[in-house]
Amino acid sequence: MAIPTLEDRYSRQILFQEIGAEGQGKLSQARVVIVGCGATGSVLASLLARAGVGTIRIVDRDYVEPSNLQRQSLFDENDARESVPKAIAAARQIARFNSEIVVEAQVADLIPQNVDVLLGAADLILDGTDNFETRYLINDYAVKNSLPWIYAAAVGGYPVTMNVLPSETACLACVFPEAPRGAIETCETAGILNTAVNLVASIAATEALKFFVGARGKMRRTLLSWDVWANEHAEVAAASPRAGCRVCGERDFAHLAGEGRPHITLCGRNSVQIHERGRPVDFAEISARLQPLGGVRHNSFVLKFWREPYEITLFPDGRAIVKGTTDTAVARSLYARYIGS
Ligand SMILES: [Zn+2]
Repeated sequence: MAIPTLEDRYSRQILFQEIGAEGQGKLSQARVVIVGCGATGSVLASLLARAGVGTIRIVDRDYVEPSNLQRQSLFDENDARESVPKAIAAARQIARFNSEIVVEAQVADLIPQNVDVLLGAADLILDGTDNFETRYLINDYAVKNSLPWIYAAAVGGYPVTMNVLPSETACLACVFPEAPRGAIETCETAGILNTAVNLVASIAATEALKFFVGARGKMRRTLLSWDVWANEHAEVAAASPRAGCRVCGERDFAHLAGEGRPHITLCGRNSVQIHERGRPVDFAEISARLQPLGGVRHNSFVLKFWREPYEITLFPDGRAIVKGTTDTAVARSLYARYIGS
């Protein structure tokens, strides 16, 4: 079967007058970065890829696990069995339904050292992350470089989103000078409804479409939240920056400067990420060395090593996720013992 023509593929969207043929053309030129490709990121990537956004870069530090499949809609059981990195699995799946756009998979943790490389050249940044540390980093970068971004989060049945248009609207730090208490309640403690995820991602993706077709005036200027189970929603004004905001007012980019972020405990899992080493590792060599010490297997993307009660997942750049502890000292010592210092 022939690949559909552009007019065919996007005909229903072109019929939507606010987009039209001209808007569709703009979408094909648009470049978006989605940071984090878990539940929210999956839906964002899927919707924008189907809508014809020309270049989508997906940045994710994690790999697919069975517990992701309830809500992370770009992944399947095979990805979980093979521990495929989410960015790679997402790009593969998108290529099956839209091979005409460019999808760049970046298996990486967004940190101050790589933020220019990973976020540069984008028109818009979308939040698919699960933590405020990374969101504050995105916010710093976006405000500093006058790059719009969209905050989107969901925990339990409670989705929340806000557009950040630097120098026009409030930034994330205007609204949340400190990470909100609710942020401590993660997917692990509160669980999550896949419907809450889809709702927040749908709203954020719509705002992205408005931005790309040039309907900036139609973009929402509030912090919008729901409780989908209680049928409640709320909007808080965010149309202008807060006087004295440390980030957009004083232009103090502490997160960009990398203050206090050596280790991160991941959402939804009893695990710690180690990314101090930052140099390539040889999977074949490490695999051979670890063979007598426990279970080990690798493919081109990840190496997994099991030794009760721990599991270490190693990426080609030396980054690792150590499962079975939330103690960074324990994780660091396991890394030193099995992978190297
Ligand atoms: Zn601000």
